[in-house]
Amino acid sequence: MSDGYRQLLDAAIQHLENLKSRGVRHVAVAPETLRALALPPVAGKSPTANFKSQIPTAVVPPKIEPAISMPPKKSAAPTSAASPKSEVSNLKIEITSSSPEKTAAFTALRERALACVKCAHLAASRKNVVFGVGNIDAQLMFVGEAPGADEDEQGEPFVGRAGQLLTKIIQATGLSRADVYIANILKCRPDTPGQSAGNRPPTPEERATCIPYLQEQIDLVQPKAIVALGATAVDGLLGKSPGITKLRGQWQTYRGTPLMPTYHPAYLLRNQAMSEKRKVWEDILQVMEKLEMPISEKQRNYFLKA
Ligand code: URA
Repeated sequence: MSDGYRQLLDAAIQHLENLKSRGVRHVAVAPETLRALALPPVAGKSPTANFKSQIPTAVVPPKIEPAISMPPKKSAAPTSAASPKSEVSNLKIEITSSSPEKTAAFTALRERALACVKCAHLAASRKNVVFGVGNIDAQLMFVGEAPGADEDEQGEPFVGRAGQLLTKIIQATGLSRADVYIANILKCRPDTPGQSAGNRPPTPEERATCIPYLQEQIDLVQPKAIVALGATAVDGLLGKSPGITKLRGQWQTYRGTPLMPTYHPAYLLRNQAMSEKRKVWEDILQVMEKLEMPISEKQRNYFLKA
């Protein structure tokens, strides 16, 4: 193996290991890329000669220090570390769970979602299907509305500004993104024909078409609690509701699982009032209580006036 080829493999493995350590459990790799990786390097050709396309761009959550120390996680099967003999197989980051059946079912579901063209207009406009991210054995699941431009670009939910705020909220509980599971009602970014920027909420038809994927994700993860972020997530999971303002902070049930409606982090970016942050935090405290997570005095008092 040439030095160049080995360097490329080392860099790719390092890159994927970094993603894995940040909680990313899968990356999209085109079948032709996987086939090319399995081929022996071609003498005299550049290290990338076998690749039709490059390995997709990293999904890098913002570097934010946890607000407090992390409680013990639920155990998941350890993922194999890179070894010199298995470089090629290491290039595929597996979805892992303590149950091989669950891992297989999740992988199959993800593959179906990634190939979905049921909304032809969204399949045509999307860069990536944004399936979901996190621990498939998580006790806590967050559900949002739909990917925005950043999520479409990176293939991961909640990585833009609202996502960074969600990450901070998760970290304020003592958990990390890798401890929870995050998904959306819609797996593709709602298109905005004729507009170069901006978002729109999913239509009822788009929601109805896509929601079975989320239902299957929830059925597989079997979280102990779901946090529904904003009106679209609440309506998508519960059906028509009296509105997020009325419902937030009050436990609901989604197919037997406790569901806490709260404001979408994008709302908190638009309305910076301490009182609104405190409302979301009170909803999260209820979730922590439901999950019997330790809550410090400091945590209880976040966003209270001095
Ligand atoms: N808003 C959402 O509802 N979901 C995302 O993934 C990003 C922003």
